[in-house]
Amino acid sequence: MKANVWAGRNRLEIQDVPDPQILNARDAIVRVSSTAICGSDLHLVDGYIPTVKKGDVLGHEFMGEVVEVGPGVHNLHTGDRVVVPFPIACGACFACEAELYSVCENSNPNAGMAEKLMGHAPAGIFGYSHMLGGFAGGQAEYVRVPFADVGPIKVEDDLPDEKVLFLSDIFPTGFMGAEMCDIKPGQTIAIWGAGPVGQFAAASAFLLGADRVIVIDRFPYRLRRVQRTGAEVLNYEEVNVLEALRDMTGGRGPDACIDAVGMEAHHPTPAMYAYDRTKQAARMETERPYALREAIMACRNGGVVSVIGVYGGFVDKFPMGTVMNRSLTIRTGQCHVQRYTEPLLQRIRAGEIDPSFVISHRMPLSEAPRGFELFKNKQDECNKVVLTP
Ligand SMILES: [Zn+2]
Ligand SMILES: [Zn+2]
Repeated sequence: MKANVWAGRNRLEIQDVPDPQILNARDAIVRVSSTAICGSDLHLVDGYIPTVKKGDVLGHEFMGEVVEVGPGVHNLHTGDRVVVPFPIACGACFACEAELYSVCENSNPNAGMAEKLMGHAPAGIFGYSHMLGGFAGGQAEYVRVPFADVGPIKVEDDLPDEKVLFLSDIFPTGFMGAEMCDIKPGQTIAIWGAGPVGQFAAASAFLLGADRVIVIDRFPYRLRRVQRTGAEVLNYEEVNVLEALRDMTGGRGPDACIDAVGMEAHHPTPAMYAYDRTKQAARMETERPYALREAIMACRNGGVVSVIGVYGGFVDKFPMGTVMNRSLTIRTGQCHVQRYTEPLLQRIRAGEIDPSFVISHRMPLSEAPRGFELFKNKQDECNKVVLTP
């Protein structure tokens, strides 16, 4: 089959790779009908996530048709149309019982690698490095889906791929980012990053009752797109974000702040950006946590900082003093997607949200490397790329 393969730092290739096979009783094989490029894929492509190897198939956002099931899968059948969550979860361990699917204790065969870096291991993730299981990803014609009786959600044919594909990651991720803010009526939520996850976080914050949502980015086309959710916007190349947020909130600061940027933040102050960029390039820190630092500084006393941007390792100059002295709560996690697929599908079905609003580009899988270039370099107002095998 054809697949989008990591061929070295900043090198992607469409290659012929072996078709996936059923390996365990609870596996299924899915023929991919739609798959997407995610911002977190960019951290893999440019080499900032450790343990990616040449030949790895990328992609963790995909859906399609079940073409084969193992003997232990009783709830799916050949021909079923499914969306597959990006974390792989067994459904029965301590973490899964607590609905903490992205830290499933049974789905990461390379847990030892992750334990060295993180203390304990998170779940396996499709197409996301060997430390996270070494599973082949969904930017391919077919995918092996482990624990297929737990993760995939069946979707009737009445909803097109474009409306349900993002249940695999970015809609639940944005939603969880907003949910972790414990939003009360009348509250103001600030979000760093107007990419697709920031856009879903903004839409979700309104769904959960926020009064105002303020989104911070520097790309006018992304800010325009997030304005469609009803959010107000700040371009950090034009305003001092901390001052602007204070002014907009009567001096108190936003009730909660969401970091939807993660480890490769850009910085408006050249010296600070250079500091983090240099340390990251020298592998002395793995992250450029500028958005996170600013979110912490901006948040009102006693507020919540919700981190859904992806981090890989260690941050530098972390303002712990302000977290402690100002009674902030930091909440974070890779999304526990399986917790959200059914309720969010119901919201899509009820017409509360149409997730296809994030799509800017559609192209065949064979053009995935070009799609990555457009997305990475923010060319052609690229917001979200959907690939069809
Ligand atoms: Zn993703
Ligand atoms: Zn589990």
